[in-house]
Amino acid sequence: MPELPEVEVVRRGLERWVAHRTVAEAEVLHPRAVRRHLAGADDFAHRLKGHRIGTPSRRGKYLWLPLEDTHQAILAHLGMSGQLLVQSQAAPDEKHLRIRVRFADEVDTELRFVDQRTFGGLSLHDTTPDGLPDVIAHIARDPLDPLFGDGAFHQALRRKRTTIKRALLDQSLISGVGNIYADEALWRARIHFERPTANFTRPRTAELLGHIRDVMNEALAVGGTSFDSLYVNVNGESGYFDRSLDAYGREGLPCKRCATPMRRRAWMNRSSYFCPRCQRAPRVAS
Ligand SMILES: [Zn+2]
Repeated sequence: MPELPEVEVVRRGLERWVAHRTVAEAEVLHPRAVRRHLAGADDFAHRLKGHRIGTPSRRGKYLWLPLEDTHQAILAHLGMSGQLLVQSQAAPDEKHLRIRVRFADEVDTELRFVDQRTFGGLSLHDTTPDGLPDVIAHIARDPLDPLFGDGAFHQALRRKRTTIKRALLDQSLISGVGNIYADEALWRARIHFERPTANFTRPRTAELLGHIRDVMNEALAVGGTSFDSLYVNVNGESGYFDRSLDAYGREGLPCKRCATPMRRRAWMNRSSYFCPRCQRAPRVAS
């Protein structure tokens, strides 16, 4: 699954190539790609036609394109393999092209939703007064959002009576932190993934948030190398950041701080990677 930095790379590409263009026509080539738009493919295409795309927006891993002068937005579900591509109209169709959006201007590009495994798709939703698609109104702000409240997050963490990695993946507390960036930030902060949150101190929360922001910004900086091409991409893996990972996927390899072999634990149908020396397990695991 793409994580926040990968989705932000896509958002920036769309902002550059698609924002403020008027839809001439939307073509749905596979009905599965609009299955979350319950009124169907024809209704989806009809509602886009003639509307200008606003500034692409993101919260956590959710990405949407507002339709100007409506209270609606196109929500993109990238799933495991979904890609939003901006291509020349003359470029041959991709094998797994699902949706094409043509624009009513002289620019020779169109927006394509390509998805090999069709877990993803596009759907149109009403927006809240904040401009969020209503189906994601419950998602908390992400740590790169200037309006994210560090103090409120700390209080919520202490009240939650959970363990830290569960909390980091709880989209109602903080959004956009997936399995990979959680492991990276916890390693940097020297915190074991099963630490109870109830006794987190304010400085410890602040330090952890700092590491989360650092990891995400570093990943964004690496992904940023592709901004200038005409190709906006989510690759469905851990993105451009693979070579810089300190914890995730490093089972058996030496910890980059203390050289102790890194460990992997099965955790909620996923894996947690950690250094058993730098990140001491709590005495009573929950
Ligand atoms: Zn270590």
